[in-house]
Amino acid sequence: MKAAFITGHGGNEVVQVGERERPARRPGEVRVRLHAATLNQVDLYMRNSGAGITHSLPQIMGLDGAGVIDEVDADEALLKPGQRVVLHPGLNCGRCEFCQRGEGVLCTRMQFLGEHRDGSFAEWVSLPARNVFPMPAHLDFMEAAALGVNHLTAWRMLFTKARVKPWETVLVFGIGGGVSLAALQLAKAAGARVIVTSRDDIKLERAMAMGADHGINSRSGDVAKAVLTFTGGRGVDVVIENVGEAVWPAAMKSLVRGGRLVTCGATSGDQPPADLRRIFIRQLQILGSTHGDFSEFHDLLAFIEQQRIVPVIDSRFPIEGIHEALNRLESGLQFGKVGLSIQP
Ligand SMILES: [Zn+2]
Repeated sequence: MKAAFITGHGGNEVVQVGERERPARRPGEVRVRLHAATLNQVDLYMRNSGAGITHSLPQIMGLDGAGVIDEVDADEALLKPGQRVVLHPGLNCGRCEFCQRGEGVLCTRMQFLGEHRDGSFAEWVSLPARNVFPMPAHLDFMEAAALGVNHLTAWRMLFTKARVKPWETVLVFGIGGGVSLAALQLAKAAGARVIVTSRDDIKLERAMAMGADHGINSRSGDVAKAVLTFTGGRGVDVVIENVGEAVWPAAMKSLVRGGRLVTCGATSGDQPPADLRRIFIRQLQILGSTHGDFSEFHDLLAFIEQQRIVPVIDSRFPIEGIHEALNRLESGLQFGKVGLSIQP
C-alpha cells in the first residue's frame, strides 16, 4: 500500500512516500481504508528527532485519520464494513492502574499512531474497534480526521480540566494553530466569551469572523493589559495555551482570582518563571492536559454533530505532497489544519 513514512531523523530527506505492507487485521480490530488525515506538530517532532518516544524505523507517519471500514470481526456489533469513520489515535493497554480506574488517557503503556507504531498517512490502518468511531455526517473525511487530535485535546482542556461555563471568558493564545482554533470553536459553541491572541492581524481578523469576541496582537500590544481592558479590569476565567514560555507571564497576569490555566504544549520553551506568589495569593490553578479519552471523543463527536461545527482546513495536499505539507505546518503561516488526501 502507499504510505508516507520516516526512514531516519532530520529534515524532509528522511520522509518518503512509497510502498509499505498493508497491515493485517487481528481479531478485535477494525481495518479502515483511509481517505484523509491531517498533520500535527508531533509529525514534525517525529521527523526531526522522535527523542523520548519508543519507535522503530521505518515508521509510517500520522496520528489522525478518517476513512471507510474495510473489514471487521464477524461478530462485531457496532461497526460494519462501508461505514464512514474517524480514528482515535491513542491505543491504551486497558490494564494498567490508570486504565483500570477509567483514565486511559494516563496509560503507562499508551501507544499513539505515528509515534509508537505505524500511523495514518497510509491507505490502510488496522486498529482496535474501540479506537474507531462513526464520523459526524456533515463533515468530509479531512474535516473529520482533524477532530482526532486537536479538537479532542481542546475538548479535554476546556470541559474536563477547566470546566468552562457558558457565562465565562476564555483567553486562547496563538490563534491559527489547530488546538487554538478548536478551542475557539468549542468554547464559542458552548456559549463562552472568547478572546484570542496572535502575532498576525490577518489571523485575528479571521478568528473574529469565526466568532471570537476580541483579538489582541501579541506582537504590537500588551496582552494582559488588553485583556483587563476587555474584561473591565477583572481578567479571564480560563486560559488555554500551548505556546509556553513566550506567553506565560501574560497568561498568568490575564487570569481572574481563582482562574484556571490549562497548558498542552510548550513550543516556545518549557521553563517559564513560576510566579508562585501570584499562584497562591490569587489561588490560580495550573492544569496540564494532553489528548483525551474515548468517552471524551464520544462526547466531542456528538457536540460537533449537534452544533454543526466544521474544523478549519488551511490547505489540502495529496499524500505525495507530504514534503510541501510538512513545510506548510513548519512555516507557522497556516490558519487551521494542513491536510493530506489519500484517495483510492
Ligand atoms: Zn493502561
